[in-house]
Amino acid sequence: MKAAVVTEFARPLEVVQREIPKPAAGQVLVRLECCGLCHTDIHAAGGDWPVTPTLPFVPGHEGVGIVEQLGDGVTSRTLGERVAIAWLGEACGDCRYCVDGRETLCEQQENSGYSVDGAFAEYAVASARYVVPVPDGVSPTDAAPLSCAGVTTYKALKVAQVSPTERVGIFGIGGLGHLAVQYARIMGASVVAIDIEQPKLDLAAELGADHLVNAGTTDPVAALADLGGLDVALVLAASTRVFEQAFASLRRGGRLVCVAMPADGAAMSVPIFETVVKGLSVLGSIVGTRQDLAEVFALHAAGKTRVIAQTRPLEEVNQAITEVLAGQVPARVVFSYALSAEAGA
Ligand code: ZN
Ligand code: ZN
Repeated sequence: MKAAVVTEFARPLEVVQREIPKPAAGQVLVRLECCGLCHTDIHAAGGDWPVTPTLPFVPGHEGVGIVEQLGDGVTSRTLGERVAIAWLGEACGDCRYCVDGRETLCEQQENSGYSVDGAFAEYAVASARYVVPVPDGVSPTDAAPLSCAGVTTYKALKVAQVSPTERVGIFGIGGLGHLAVQYARIMGASVVAIDIEQPKLDLAAELGADHLVNAGTTDPVAALADLGGLDVALVLAASTRVFEQAFASLRRGGRLVCVAMPADGAAMSVPIFETVVKGLSVLGSIVGTRQDLAEVFALHAAGKTRVIAQTRPLEEVNQAITEVLAGQVPARVVFSYALSAEAGA
């Protein structure tokens, strides 16, 4: 099988032939149809975070494909079923977080494309209990970005407990942001899109944003104050300054939800007086549970969301990473393995 492998940090990935892995007990073998490219994959390949993956490894945690083999003891999945391989590759199932519905906080978790090989490959093995079925009515190329970009923003808005009369600001309109705008709308909120690039704001408008703020040409804090301030600020841009602008844009009772992760060691300064007097909250949210992803798929199957993505062959992985880092990709890149096969490389 073909796989894109990180053999050294901060070097181009190598697209090579590898043995198809065999599913162990409790695992399934998935013949992947496609996998989205997430910023986390780029951080993984760069060795950017305090805990780095063990080299060599295969990134990819927006994998979608067909179950082709069942390991010993697997009864929860069936052959031929379409499933998603998401960031939460496996969790212990027994700790307080797993048991009380916060499995993404499990301290024993494995992460696809990070601590275990991911889906930048034509096949991957995965835990049968942690793959998530993709319903009919959700195409593989839509399911891929929904498996991280979608579930992460959907969950962040759930964590913020958005209510229908509130105003939600989405800071950063890209792979995550274009879906966040839609989820905030579905939750009934009035949505403000904030970005420094006009084409991304135009996309947000097309997807239902009520207000647009170009932070490249206007002071976003002043512009958001003119609108009356934000009840919820969702930060998807990896810049400390954006976090501080988002916090400063909150109205009384407001919640800042941190999702993007600026470079290691980044910190924001929170004014205590305003936090107390205005009753503000700062929250962190990391991906979503299997149930959150099932909900994201159900919304899409019901026709309530649109995924903006371009498909590319896996051979273009390094070029795609360069383009994502340069901000040249409208929303999401999805590697399609059918395309790779046609390219014959
Ligand atoms: Zn991701
Ligand atoms: Zn656990």
